[in-house]
Amino acid sequence: MKTYDAIVIGSGMTGGWAAKELTEHGLETLVLEAGPMVTPADYVEHVPPWEMKFRGLGDRKKQLARQPIQKECYACDEWSSKFFVDDIDNPYTTADGKPFLWLRGRHVAGRSIMWGRQVYRWSDLDFEGNLRDGIAVDWPIRYADIAPWYDHVEEFIGISGEALGLPQLPDGRFLKPMDLNCGEVMMRDVIAKHWSGERVLTIGRCAVLTEAHNGRAACHYCGYCERGCITLSYFNSINATLPAARQTGKMTLRTDSVVHSLIYDRKKNRVSGVRVIDGVTKHALEFRGRVVFLCASALESARILLNSATPEFPAGLANSSGELGHNVMDHIMGGGATGKIAAPADRNTVGRRPNGIYVPRFRNLPGGPKSPFLRGYGFQGGASRAGWWRGTDLPGFGADWKRQLETPGDWHMSFSGFGECLPRHENYLEIDRTKTDAWGIPVIRISVAYSDNERALMEDSSLAAAEMLAAAGAWDIEPGTEFSPPGKAIHEMGTARMGRDPRTSVLNAHNQAWDIPNLFCTDGACMTSSACQNPSITYMALTARAANYAVDAMKRNEL
Ligand SMILES: Cc1cc2nc3c(=O)[nH]c(=O)nc-3n(C[C@H](O)[C@H](O)[C@H](O)COP(=O)(O)OP(=O)(O)OC[C@H]3O[C@@H](n4cnc5c(N)ncnc54)[C@H](O)[C@@H]3O)c2cc1C
Ligand code: SF4
Repeated sequence: MKTYDAIVIGSGMTGGWAAKELTEHGLETLVLEAGPMVTPADYVEHVPPWEMKFRGLGDRKKQLARQPIQKECYACDEWSSKFFVDDIDNPYTTADGKPFLWLRGRHVAGRSIMWGRQVYRWSDLDFEGNLRDGIAVDWPIRYADIAPWYDHVEEFIGISGEALGLPQLPDGRFLKPMDLNCGEVMMRDVIAKHWSGERVLTIGRCAVLTEAHNGRAACHYCGYCERGCITLSYFNSINATLPAARQTGKMTLRTDSVVHSLIYDRKKNRVSGVRVIDGVTKHALEFRGRVVFLCASALESARILLNSATPEFPAGLANSSGELGHNVMDHIMGGGATGKIAAPADRNTVGRRPNGIYVPRFRNLPGGPKSPFLRGYGFQGGASRAGWWRGTDLPGFGADWKRQLETPGDWHMSFSGFGECLPRHENYLEIDRTKTDAWGIPVIRISVAYSDNERALMEDSSLAAAEMLAAAGAWDIEPGTEFSPPGKAIHEMGTARMGRDPRTSVLNAHNQAWDIPNLFCTDGACMTSSACQNPSITYMALTARAANYAVDAMKRNEL
């Protein structure tokens, strides 16, 4: 049996990066992906509703039967539902009274196909947060450790955005920013006038090209990126990292390869390979590798390690700390506010800009006032005019009513809060021995709930958004009061955290398992806290950093 230099499990946001970095350093790398191949021929962003069987409304019977959980995601519509898992084949269970939405895809490129592309660096405010507040454990790295890797990732994938010079949201290597529309410009100016030095409204920083970059074309604002992109204008693994890995001639990508567990060599204290169930034939297979990168996503990587228990690691492989599966976090949403604003009535938006606005965290900043809760939140959102779909609210009928619908309605402004979630040991997942998935692999049982701190900062986000709208003279202001269940933000993380001490963390400062040196985990499982920024750019930077560390360690014959 061939022994690969490296095995990467998963080909999504992080797996693509691991594959690229490892192969570019000359490692023969096997990428094991549970789902089928996806190519740009599968992209459907330009298919109009009238060419869809259900006119874009979706096959509701089928979704209820096969995707009752996935349909809760805004992006799982008639076009993109094919990029989300079948919930019956991929089940999980939850603790009583603790709902959790596990929203995901199982195909080459994973959720990098459907993601919202918002990318925000973390700062030392985030990396020092746990230490400062005496919560959980300290991150083993600081901003200076990861900053060059943010540069490395951003330069390759292409990020558009505006530099602001804010310490809590470091600037990156930006392509030119997208424009704010006139409603957003109005809001930006109101915020600058009333909250100068505290709050800033800027255009979202996003992994969408505003200029041709690395052989990929600039975005043409068709606007439905979660359906794919034939011009490769936003970043996903198929558009960028996997082609780079393939170009080296060193990557073998095996699709329909559902990883069951890792094979542990007790004598060498190394992972020697991977057990796989073929997704189509359901035959059991094994593959050998010198190092293994777990990039199957935060919950799935923990599941694989828990399913890999051995006599030496009865509570799960690499789990001498007892923290594997614990400290699950996801951003809380549902706070913020919407309202109608008096932006110019004679102006409208042009095209479908695949991006919104961002208001970086402004609560609990160093030297600023202290809030009655820990950490903070940021706002995403934007201004838009109501379209013809407002017909159900418009009184009248007949030709006059139709004519009214031909002109755009009021300007609306929305601010959606994304709040930081604290790491807590009691938020955990475990193997549910009563259930298996379609490949006979034991599933996870998730037990996660938000605390008063997350709820308090979401309530504050609704008040803060409403006061910004009021300052702009908005009317019909509606503050958000229903907060999302865990999982809904699709930023789940923390199940195999990094730390400084093997007794309290699973991974060291290089995403390497404390217990088993040739095992790395670089997806969201590794996160020690959650900050309030969208996390994927940090996962990618950590993956590139860990891959380069592993290559160097292999050269030194340490692995
Ligand atoms: C609609 C939506 C919007 C989002 N918006 C944003 C955003 O704006 N900004 C942001 O930062 N993040 C966003 N996210 C989250 C982002 O997509 C994830 O953080 C990111 O994809 C996680 O990367 P990953 O590599 O850990 O997992 P994934 O990208 O999910 O990839 C995991 C891969 O592993 C494979 N896999 C799973 N189990 C196995 C197994 N047992 N064996 C083999 N392979 C396996 C999967 O098939 C998949 O290909 C969004 C997600 C969604 C769905
Ligand atoms: S909006 Fe831009 S990035 Fe999104 S699918 Fe269209 S061209 Fe691609």
